[in-house]
Amino acid sequence: MEFLHVTATLGEGPSWDAKRGMLYWVDIVEHKVNIYNPKTNEHHSIDVGQMVGAVVPRESGGVVLATETGFYTLDLDTKKLTFISDPEDGIKENRFNDGKCDPAGRFLAGTMDHSEKTTSGSLYCLEKDHSVRKLFDGVAISNGMAWTADHKTMFYIDTPTQHVVGFDYDIDTGELSNKRVVVTIDESEGHPDGMTIDGEDMIWVAHWQGGRVSRWNPKTGEKIGEILLPASRVTACCFAGDKLEDLYITTARIHLTDEELAQQPQAGGLFRIRPGVKGSATYAFGG
Ligand code: ZN
Repeated sequence: MEFLHVTATLGEGPSWDAKRGMLYWVDIVEHKVNIYNPKTNEHHSIDVGQMVGAVVPRESGGVVLATETGFYTLDLDTKKLTFISDPEDGIKENRFNDGKCDPAGRFLAGTMDHSEKTTSGSLYCLEKDHSVRKLFDGVAISNGMAWTADHKTMFYIDTPTQHVVGFDYDIDTGELSNKRVVVTIDESEGHPDGMTIDGEDMIWVAHWQGGRVSRWNPKTGEKIGEILLPASRVTACCFAGDKLEDLYITTARIHLTDEELAQQPQAGGLFRIRPGVKGSATYAFGG
């Protein structure tokens, strides 16, 4: 395991821009979009002036963000933010958290209550024509998403439920149906946060307060592997690189005590491992 020397307060939401060869991720509470080039090992960040929950590549260039005030495009060269839409205009208690594009280029992102006390969050879909649809509500902390290689199933995590759920996914319309629990994370291993999927359709779940990422077979609900990290608050993971062989893992140092920070000085870092299985691609926003 490699530790890349970038320490975030609340690192989250890695995505891979295969076209540019860049890894993006956010530091939610520091208002940062991070950009890392694995070929040159260079990193820089852009301060977007507000909490940012997710960053995804955009087919036509730049990235799209889900922030505390809605959806925006960000030009990585000029650093210009352009507002798209805010489906929760007027709901000051909420902010966007994790988000990801589906294989058809829609951007799905969910919200959560800042205080983490209610289920006021929802999952939204930003369509390629920039219209926004609500997919469902009643969410506490909207997190990981992933699609199977045949695009027929979407997996989703609402963290406090301890579940990964599956939906039938209609890739033509973006409609969800037939919700079912596919994986349950025991609380002794923390809480499920971000998620990705590999080339064998096995899902990888980041464990907040569980110090690991775990690999599961969503068909059987069985855990089939795990990787321990030197940081307890593991937030998300994503495959990247020319061959999608590298798994990048984000972590957080927020709210750790001085004692915990002394025990896990790399908390908040970005980690890279090569797990021996090829990953799935990050889809870009098509609008
Ligand atoms: Zn998360």
